[in-house]
Order: sequence, then C-alpha cells, then structure tokens
Amino acid sequence: MHCMWCGSNEAYQDKKTCYWELPDGTRAIEITEMPSVACPDCGMIYQEETLIDDIEDQLMLINTKLLPNSISYSVLMEQPRLLQRNYFKA
Ligand SMILES: [Zn+2]
Repeated sequence: MHCMWCGSNEAYQDKKTCYWELPDGTRAIEITEMPSVACPDCGMIYQEETLIDDIEDQLMLINTKLLPNSISYSVLMEQPRLLQRNYFKA
C-alpha cells in the first residue's frame, strides 16, 4: 500500500504496540495489536487518520479510569460506551 510519508508503494498493514495519551491527559496507556501501516523505505510506522479518529472517539465515550495500562486495540474498542454518541465532537 501507499506510504503517506514518502510515497513508497512498499508500505504494508501491520499490528503494532503504541502509546496513547488519554484525552484528559492523566496518563498514557499502551495499546497492543494496533492496526498500523509500516513502511520499509522510510521506516515510518503510523496509524491511518480514520483509525485515530475512531480511537479518540472511543476514549471520549468510555470510562478511561477503568482502563488497564495495557490493552489490545480490539478489547479497547469493545469497551461499553457511556454515551451513545460523541457529543464533544463539533
Ligand atoms: Zn514511507
């Protein structure tokens, strides 16, 4: 797939561990098995914009105080939401 940083077509889907700061800024959690794009040409590993939006939305809608310091992406996205939709989003 296409690398958004260097334009290489050698980029591929991968699952990576990354650190994410909670929206309230109290701490960062480790998210494992995060769908990511890895590029062998420029070395970038990044998450696609839509995925970042989904995670940010999810973190706004769940009780982040209950989250462990390390959680897998799929478990994170299965956490029950306090609100049905994101009222914080403009
Ligand atoms: Zn690249």
